[in-house]
Amino acid sequence: MPSTATNMVVISAIAEMREAIREARAGGARIGFVPTMGALHDGHSSLVRRARQEADVVAMSIFVNPLQFGPGEDLARYPRPIEQDDAIASRDGVDILFRPDVSAMYRPLRTVGVTAGPLASLWEGELRPGHFDGVLTVVAKLFNIVTPDFAVFGRKDLQQTAVIRAMVRDLDMPISIVVAPIVREDDGLALSSRNRYLAGDDRNRALALSRALHAARNAFAAGERNGVALENAGREVLDGEPGVTTDYVAVIDPETFERSEVATSRSAAIVAARVGSTRLIDNAQLRDDEA
Ligand code: AMP
Repeated sequence: MPSTATNMVVISAIAEMREAIREARAGGARIGFVPTMGALHDGHSSLVRRARQEADVVAMSIFVNPLQFGPGEDLARYPRPIEQDDAIASRDGVDILFRPDVSAMYRPLRTVGVTAGPLASLWEGELRPGHFDGVLTVVAKLFNIVTPDFAVFGRKDLQQTAVIRAMVRDLDMPISIVVAPIVREDDGLALSSRNRYLAGDDRNRALALSRALHAARNAFAAGERNGVALENAGREVLDGEPGVTTDYVAVIDPETFERSEVATSRSAAIVAARVGSTRLIDNAQLRDDEA
């Protein structure tokens, strides 16, 4: 039986989820969907608020998707604060919280999945082989179960939003993709479930990512248009921070993710770095109205 926290229904079985969606649809509801891996923070809450603007029913999923973690990554230690997540989702006004078990989502003899294509050979995809195939496979499954009118994703994972848009376009999925701005701490650190891993000095060191983006944006604002020069402005900040190992700093076109030789205001700076044992990513458009 589904359990209920205030008005929120929590469902783990796929068949029950389909039934809840069918009921909502029968009442004519427009359904907005926010997929997450839990360990909810204000970034996730902002996606729920964004969904609420256009949805009668807001569905959220919490599923730590093993398919998108590589060997040696943090699948086992990924935080799973179940009760706290329930309380946050309920407070935020989520109507249906879908929390399937791994065994329900992936049958042992699973043989078919979604392939992300060329975008997945760059940056995050290059450093995390199979990651975007895993993301797209679970998102496709969740879309088939929830059948939302639209789904909201965070710009925090910029390359993820690009591969998801590509999937929806290339596979003709009748779902609109909404991308919401990055929510940051006051000091600039992008909110992330992985920030929980940052102990001691690592919390401060992690600021090097947003400072690197800031440096690239400042250089752009000062008139620099050479992509490599803009990257170097960011790299200098990241490389200069002790305890931080740079994976990449790049200035890219936000659709193709190819390097921008000549940057425009649409170009984005993307960074990935390891702070102690915690791997973080961040990005910023070179010029925008986003905080
Ligand atoms: P996750 O639970 O980390 O898989 O993230 C679930 C969704 O929340 C994804 O669409 C993320 O891009 C989004 N998200 C994560 N952190 C932030 C943030 N700081 N601001 C906005 N969206 C975020």
